[in-house]
Parts: sequence; C-alpha cells; structure tokens
Amino acid sequence: MAAEAIRAEGNDLYARGRYTQAINKYELYIELVTKEKGGLDRIVCGHSNRAQAYLQLRKYTKALEDVRKALELDPTHLKSLVRKAKALEGLKIYQDVVTIYKSLLQNFKDQLHDVHVKDFLRSLQDAERKDKMTRLGQYEELVDSYWDQPCPNGAPMMEEYVGPVELRRVERMDRGLFATKDLEPGDLLFVSNSIVTVRVPIAKGDIQISVESKSEAMHLVLDSLKRFVNHAFDNLQDFSQFQLLVQVDTLAGPYPTAPLSRDCPSMRYFTPVNALPPGLRNLMRPDLDHPTIRADFSHSTLMKVVERRQFTHWGNDHDELTGIYALPSLMNHSCTPNVTVTTMQNESVTKIFRACKSVKKGEELFYAYHNIFCPLEDRRAFYPTLCCTCARCKLEERLVAEVPALKSLEAQCSKFWEQKSSFSQLSPEERAKRRNQCIICIRLVEELLQKNSKLQILRTHEKDWIRATLIRFHRLLLDPALSLKDDALKEDQLSEMRLIFEAVRAMRTVNPGSDIALAMISEEYSRVVNQNSRKELEPHGLSDLFLTGLEITRLMNGPKLKYRTILKLFNYTSILLCGHQ
Ligand SMILES: [Zn+2]
Repeated sequence: MAAEAIRAEGNDLYARGRYTQAINKYELYIELVTKEKGGLDRIVCGHSNRAQAYLQLRKYTKALEDVRKALELDPTHLKSLVRKAKALEGLKIYQDVVTIYKSLLQNFKDQLHDVHVKDFLRSLQDAERKDKMTRLGQYEELVDSYWDQPCPNGAPMMEEYVGPVELRRVERMDRGLFATKDLEPGDLLFVSNSIVTVRVPIAKGDIQISVESKSEAMHLVLDSLKRFVNHAFDNLQDFSQFQLLVQVDTLAGPYPTAPLSRDCPSMRYFTPVNALPPGLRNLMRPDLDHPTIRADFSHSTLMKVVERRQFTHWGNDHDELTGIYALPSLMNHSCTPNVTVTTMQNESVTKIFRACKSVKKGEELFYAYHNIFCPLEDRRAFYPTLCCTCARCKLEERLVAEVPALKSLEAQCSKFWEQKSSFSQLSPEERAKRRNQCIICIRLVEELLQKNSKLQILRTHEKDWIRATLIRFHRLLLDPALSLKDDALKEDQLSEMRLIFEAVRAMRTVNPGSDIALAMISEEYSRVVNQNSRKELEPHGLSDLFLTGLEITRLMNGPKLKYRTILKLFNYTSILLCGHQ
C-alpha cells in the first residue's frame, strides 16, 4: 500500500479517537517514507502527526521524542514547535514552554493568524503563571483575583510548590516534616494538590454522611488511585509520573527497616519538575527502579494508602470531599501547631501551607488535623489512634486530674457541644440561648483561672491553652444574626466583648492561623470598623482588638499580600464557617 494511503488511514483513526492504532499507522508511514527517500517534509509530517497522537494519550515523553526528530530535520516546522510546547507542558516543564511560545510569537509573527497569536499569548501567560508558582511560590496574584471576584465554579487550579521543608524520620510517630531554614509567620512552606479527590453528596440540611456513601467514597478513591498508578507505570519515563509512584509508595509506609531513601525519600520526589534543575528531572532512585516498584505495588499497598491517608473536609456545596495528598499526609499533628492551612475549593482542592509562628531551622512542623478548640477528651475522640503528646495535651492531662472544677467545666462544655449537630436548624431564640451558654462558659473559665491556686500559677500562654480548650462554641460567637447591634455600646455589651476578645486572643496563641480565629477576629474587626468607633473603644482597651486583627492577618498572609485580599479572606472564612454550621 502506498505510504500516503497509510497516512490517510492514520489520520482517519486519529479523527475517530483511536490513537494507539493511529500511532501504528504513522509508525509504518515513517518507515516507508524513510525507505522511499520520499522527501524530508514527509518524514517530518509523520513524526509530527505521531507526536500529536501521543499527546492525546498523555504520553508526553514519546511525543517529545517525535517532535525532536521532526525538528532535527526542519527546525522551523510550526506544528512540531507547538506540539513540543504541549508535550513540555504535559511534562510540567513550564520554563521551556515559555521559551517556545516567546520565540513563536517573535519569529513567526508574519505567518500567524490572529487567532493563533491570541492562542499563543494565552498559553504563554498561562505557562509564565505556572512557572512562577512552581519555582518561586508566587500565588498572591491568583488568590487575590479569586477572592476579589469569586467564581461560582470554584477556585482556579493551582500548581504545586515545595519550599523550605524536608522529610525526616522521627521517633515513635514514624516520619515528619522539618523546616530547612528559619521561618517567619506567614512564610510559604508548600502547596499541594490532591492526588485524587472524591465528592460525597450529603442531604440538604443534614451534616451526616451515610455509611454507604462513606464506603462508596472509599471505593471511588481506590479506583481513581489505581487508575493514576497504572498510568504512571505506563509512563515511567515522565519524571512527574515516577514521582507519583514514589509518593504513593511513601504514603503506604512507614518502612522503619527499609533504607532511609525509601522511608524518607529526597524532596526531589515531591518537588514540581519545573522547579528541579534539569539534571535531576530524569534520574531514578536505584533502590526503587521500575521492576522493584512494580512488584511492590500490590492491591494492599493502595488499600493502605486509602485507609490511612484519607483527608475529609466539607466542600462548598453540600458535599464532603475525600482526598489523598502526599506531603500534607506526612506532616504530624499538634494541638499548638506552627503551621496553618488554607484550602482552595478547586478541582484538586489545593492546600496552601504557611508557617503561623516563628520556627527555627531544623524544628519539626505541625498543623492541626482537627478542631483543637475543645477539651482533651474530645480532641482524643477525633482520632483515637493519634495519641497526641504535645505539651498542651500533657499539661491538660495533669490539670484535669488535679483540678476537679476544670474537669467538670470541660464536661459541661462537652455536653453543650453534643447538641450541636442540628445547629443549622435551630431557631434564632435557641441560638441566642446557646450563645449565652458559651459566654457563661468563657466567664467561668476566666474565674477559674483567677481563683484556683493550681491555675493561677500557669504561665500566660498555658492559661491561653486552657481558655482555648473551653471555647468550642466559637461558631455561635460568629453567628452574624446574633451580632451586637450597631447602637452605642452598653456596659454589659462591652464586658461581653472583652470576654470574647480574651477567647479570641487565646485561640490566637494556640493557633494563630486558624480559620476560626481569623473569622472571629474578622467579626470583631468589622464591628469595630462598622461603628467607626475606635476612639470610643480606646478607653475600654478594645482597640487592641483592632491591632490583634491586623497582627493575625500579617501572620497569616505575610507582608506582601494586598490588604484588600486580607479583608476578602476574612469575609471568606467567616461566610464559609457560618454557611456550614
Ligand atoms: Zn495535643
């Protein structure tokens, strides 16, 4: 059969989405035209077409091999140059994508249609944005524009970033993440996308997820993880795919008896390919080469990952999200964390991790896996297998045993909390009643801290730990329907505000980056601003509140973020929390 007929067949198969068969035809075509010595342009065309079919199958290294052959013969073949850019984009090497589009726009100016120019400009900007995220950790612009104008379809997709963190073995808790330099509050640590995410719908007005939905979600997570792993095995020459396998292997651990390189792989396996020096983008780990890693990936490996490493949290629209993350799974929990997380509701549910306290080089990093503004017993109930032994847990364990009044106050607080599940269906009167209970609780803690001899002697931050333990009603305090009226402040309202302020300050000591602490600050802050009465509040010591608000935003966002965004962040977290409870 004539070569051209074979190529036409290939094109036809391609058009019908049968890419693997199309690739076989193009293979034959290339062979024939090479033999026929039928002209360079035909060989170029064969390679370029096959590259396009490989792109469709997301086999980017193969596509790149083909365009390279095409471009060796004809360095100005436009289609091949564009396909090269697409292949590099698939391989996430954005620096090179930028270079290609820049040169296309410059060197092919006269040959390009307007629509191509527009297209290339858009691709160029997109690649530049991704390059800045992965190499420099620049997310401000994107987050800013989203908070400025939230899109109903969710937040924009974000690339990953890995900053000054590394994985190390720790005693007992197997592995943890550590700071590789001194950190200031607000410093970006890393940004992670989920490897897989599944949305579990829940009935409107309900906050419970049925057991069937949960197990269905487990299966869905397992299925997609399997798909990703299989694709990675088929494309091991793509370093990002090899990275994925190493990450999944790491999550199935710990492997205390394995070599350190398997238990705590180099950060190279977690860092976006674009941010790696070219020499590190294609080396495989000698102890985890292809056959070994394949033999290790049994069904039970994946089950271990799905069972142990699931993240669940509320989505935007009456659903619960269940996902698997790499680095976030490897950071340990503390009830006095030094790291804070911002979750962006996009398809990959991006998580942005920042320091929220000063951290010294070499110190371990912790964040809170769950609500930590509640008594020890309840904290332990969230994750019975976790057994947190942070300083706050140890202190509280001792005090609860030594101070019966504290124990009974904690029990009282927990009892209120049990009624919480139907909070969204409560009448305004009932909400007001519970808010009142909450204020009473905060007042009782203050009295206890002042009067009890064992509590009196605690250090300032330890007192805040105890305060933060007994203010789990924060959401009631946040309830906008129950906010103070904008009239002139009465003495009892001022006293209430002072109490809430103490509570918020305690939350800040425990977890300065907490969404809840932020939202509460936001509540108080907007109240102060709305009333335009900073001066009026000054004599009552409440202008501190304003300053605390500013301080927290600085901690949370670093000094570079626009103030406008900080306010958006406040509103955002406040709406998010009120909307769900
Ligand atoms: Zn703890």
